[in-house]
Formats: sequence, C-alpha cells, structure tokens
Amino acid sequence: MSRHPNKEIRAAIEEMIQAGWRIEKREGHSWGCAFCPGGRAGCRPPTSIWSTPRVPEHHARQLRRAIEHCPHRVLRTSEGE
Ligand SMILES: [Zn+2]
Repeated sequence: MSRHPNKEIRAAIEEMIQAGWRIEKREGHSWGCAFCPGGRAGCRPPTSIWSTPRVPEHHARQLRRAIEHCPHRVLRTSEGE
C-alpha cells in the first residue's frame, strides 16, 4: 500500500491499522477508505481518508475519533495471532 503523503495522517492511519481497521486504497478525490473491525456489521459508511485536507491535523484527529467511537473495536492481546 502506498504511503499517505502527510505524516500526521499517516500516523493516524497507522493507529487505525493497529486497532484492527482495514484500509482500502482509492483513486480519485479521496486517498482511501477505512473499514472498522466490525466487518460487514461494522460502522457505515466507511471513514474516508482525504489525500490533501486543508488542515491535515484536523483530519488526523477525525480519524482517531473514528477509532474511539467505533463500538466494534477488538481487544488485542499480546499472545499470538
Ligand atoms: Zn465499528
């Protein structure tokens, strides 16, 4: 997967992946989409990740908030997969 051009947003995307979110790359106006760990029954619509938001810090915060507000988050244990 190609990296997001903005480092703030890249960090937020990294947190989403850590939290079990699935990132899908898109072409066009948005950089990609983030699907919560709930899968089919997960949060809808998927969270859009913009490629060049006017204030990247705000968008990064929005992405983190999506992680926090998702009721489907999985508790990851340190014991194997
Ligand atoms: Zn969710």
